[in-house]
Amino acid sequence: SRQSRASLLDGLDPEQRAAAAAPRGPVCVLAGAGTGKTRTITHRIAHLVRSGHVAPGQVLAVTFTTRAAGEMRTRLRGLGVDAAQALTFHAAARRQLRYFWPRVVGDRPWDLIDNKFRLVAQAAQRVRLSTETEVLRDLASEIEWSKASLVSPDDYPSVAARTQRDTPAPVAQVAEVYRWYEELKTNAQVLDFDDLLLQTTAVLEKHEAVAAEFRDRYRCFVVDEYQDVTPLQQRLLDAWLGGRDDLTVVGDANQTIYSFGGASPKSLLEFTRRFPEATVVRLERDYRSTPQVVALANRVIGAARGRPAGSRLKLVGQRPDGPEPRFAEYEDEAAEASAVARRVRELLDAEVPASEIAVLFRVNAQSEAYEQALTEAGIPYLVRGGERFFQRTEVRQAMAALRTASMEPTSLELVTAVRSVLARVGLTEQPPSGGAAKERWDALLALVELAEELAASVEDADLPRFVAELEQRAAAQHPPTVEGVTLASLHAAKGLEWDAVFLVGLSEGTMPILHADGDDAAIEEERRLFYVGVTRAREHLSLSWSLSRGPGSRRNRRRSRFLYGLIPEDHPAARIARSQQGAKPGSNVARCRLCGGPLVQTMEVKLGRCGKCPSTVDEELLEKLKTWRGERSRELKVPAFVVFTDATLMAIAEQRPTDDGA
Ligand code: ATP
Ligand code: MG
Repeated sequence: SRQSRASLLDGLDPEQRAAAAAPRGPVCVLAGAGTGKTRTITHRIAHLVRSGHVAPGQVLAVTFTTRAAGEMRTRLRGLGVDAAQALTFHAAARRQLRYFWPRVVGDRPWDLIDNKFRLVAQAAQRVRLSTETEVLRDLASEIEWSKASLVSPDDYPSVAARTQRDTPAPVAQVAEVYRWYEELKTNAQVLDFDDLLLQTTAVLEKHEAVAAEFRDRYRCFVVDEYQDVTPLQQRLLDAWLGGRDDLTVVGDANQTIYSFGGASPKSLLEFTRRFPEATVVRLERDYRSTPQVVALANRVIGAARGRPAGSRLKLVGQRPDGPEPRFAEYEDEAAEASAVARRVRELLDAEVPASEIAVLFRVNAQSEAYEQALTEAGIPYLVRGGERFFQRTEVRQAMAALRTASMEPTSLELVTAVRSVLARVGLTEQPPSGGAAKERWDALLALVELAEELAASVEDADLPRFVAELEQRAAAQHPPTVEGVTLASLHAAKGLEWDAVFLVGLSEGTMPILHADGDDAAIEEERRLFYVGVTRAREHLSLSWSLSRGPGSRRNRRRSRFLYGLIPEDHPAARIARSQQGAKPGSNVARCRLCGGPLVQTMEVKLGRCGKCPSTVDEELLEKLKTWRGERSRELKVPAFVVFTDATLMAIAEQRPTDDGA
């Protein structure tokens, strides 16, 4: 076993190895995207298990999205540590609550709420607030934020005032809605997602015997994506630890994308203050992406403002050269989607597997155009990935039907038996043309394929054996793979990687999202989200946007401000933008670095800002610009006929010499 231990760590670089092989106790890996943080912790778990320091069942690894948890499980399985649990915070809490509830509360845990908005609406009615969808949505997210931030209805008014929150209604009323919501929820005996964490924490904090049993069972804790921990999750984590320090955390402050929901990189950045004896490792070699993608990623995050100390690492690409990222502008969304589908087809023809291709967007509503375009092009896709596979209605129905059918031990040698059972829950011969129906069909087909696999690999496999396999997989959250191009939101893509990534809909109002406009902190969060997107690509990266919503509608969209300084000057998209501004060919039209709007020549150009932008001045750039120009005045006045190009402004930002006429 010494040899297998050595070869396990061979797959790591020296810094990664230092973290993976550190003795039990606190470990913190602070590093950028693609540097092997997740790889390091999965190897650390495997190493601790193989060297006998901990049993796999004593490990609890948590992360934030179901997909990322699935990815961790896959990697752990690959390292032979199937029994280590890798779950989202919510899934872990839900399991624990289910286990402890009968002993401390009642016979069986309350159900999860199925229509949160209805309760929020009822609560809003009692306070005589508007029940418009938008208001309800804002109220619901304000309640979520409060619970994740451990702010009670009583504390809400003072916290909201102190932190100057932009509240959806007068503070006192929001607090009232929150209070009613909690009461209505308790009366209905249901829990929301945050309650899973709150209740589990409360049980562990109040019931010593339960806590002792739990702490005896779990001894080693690992948190991936720790930059997105909320105060509530941190409190649960502390309850799990119960004063112990066997905690490994990894994260990247530049990838904090849930601060609107109360998350903060504070715990990550202050980890060493809390555990002064912690092993701390920083990584900067990027193993995921080509140098071309890495260079773009560095530029994206280099433009971020207010980065906390400890997050200013630059990634250094380790992979061989690859293609330059592509930028493309389209007339409308449909044109953009069908161009993406065409390009996906080219990649498939070039033998990039469909499962290695992702189309990532800001909001789920953007998915539809891509579903349609891919369907028309005959390209298989999956919208939500496999993570909720066993919770899907048709899969649950299929399992129930298979369970009934398995009363008789029919052989699997005829997969037709499985097919005919599944036909009863909607598996047709031919796939439906697309959308949700196609997704359901794909899920059922995946079950058929799993049966085929089992029939081929296990002698005398029969229906009961198949059902047992399915149940085991459901318990381990190990769905059969559904092949296809992934369509996902940027939030859901965190921690994952694909050979080819399409970042679509990169226009103002979508990326950054409209409601972030004018709010510096929100814009920075959108930028980090964009950075997360860029860093998902191993090799092919495509960035696109469109100028109008549909054919014939007004061309009222502008490309995203985040593309500022990224699009090469000689790129057709840059030229098109210039011609749209009515500039003479060859002349440059600079764009506001905040809103992306053109800087008109008669305007006083302040640091590439258009002057209409409500955002604050970029102090850092201002300083650099002053040094560069040798100017003393705070508001730098640029002669009317001089306009900075994107390239010049980037050069100034990076303090490179420039030959521009500015
Ligand atoms: P993110 O911040 O996006 O979650 P990460 O830091 O967790 O990224 P990983 O997903 O662990 O990065 O690693 C990125 C890719 O690089 C993976 O494909 C991983 O297998 C590979 N990789 C990491 N470290 C090494 C290494 N030392 N040698 C070879 N490949 C590596
Ligand atoms: Mg990771």
